[in-house]
Amino acid sequence: MEFKLSEEEKERYDRQMMIPNFGEEGQLKLKKSKVTVVGAGGLGCSVTLYLAAAGVGTLTIIDPERVELSNLNRQVLHWTEDIGELKAVSVARKLEKLNPAVEVKAVPERLTMENVRGLIGGSDVVVDCLDNWHTRFLLNEACVAERIPMVHAGIRGLYGQMTTIIPYQTPCLRCILPETPPEEERFPVLGTTPGVLGVLEAFEALKLIVGIGVSLAGKLLVFDGEAMSFQEIRVERNESCSVCGEKRF
Ligand SMILES: [Zn+2]
Repeated sequence: MEFKLSEEEKERYDRQMMIPNFGEEGQLKLKKSKVTVVGAGGLGCSVTLYLAAAGVGTLTIIDPERVELSNLNRQVLHWTEDIGELKAVSVARKLEKLNPAVEVKAVPERLTMENVRGLIGGSDVVVDCLDNWHTRFLLNEACVAERIPMVHAGIRGLYGQMTTIIPYQTPCLRCILPETPPEEERFPVLGTTPGVLGVLEAFEALKLIVGIGVSLAGKLLVFDGEAMSFQEIRVERNESCSVCGEKRF
């Protein structure tokens, strides 16, 4: 891949390159960047759509599942004709049409202790778009071990929360939640909830890569769609955190 912008790219990204401190330099940072999105459900559809449109160079999408009819109220990159298709492949196909310059890698695999570090290694940012705590904590550990920033979001019903984790600088997910919350097989979701949180995750990833603005590092953002309000909670590192704490041994 050539690391300068073509005339076509200058035109495609014209409006975002007008942003102060973004410019061609910011666009080149995006073009060189590798982002891994774990989960191609409601959050993942929203995140990958905006990251591909913005011109992230390499986008890896990890999800082992196939599209089901009951996904379509919220997983907006999967359409009726895609039922039965692998979600990672379904998303990749849409993103390639949106922006052929982005290298989209579909990885239809389930994260395990054995494969997680290999799958995310070399990423500039990892985006957590998962729907279960078990895999999310596996991902948190791997991101801390690989020292890769991770943007986390979780949703339920009309509610969501998110934070940005910079390993050894900010609290990791385990600092914030020492006990794993109970898993829920099927939970309610209004499609717009992962829509909002996914766009905010993409927002954080783009800012981290380009180096603009203030991130959610060290802050948990809580979204209440019922009241249409956002609340910010300061979170602290736990020095005896089993994942990133200095006194963990
Ligand atoms: Zn921690």
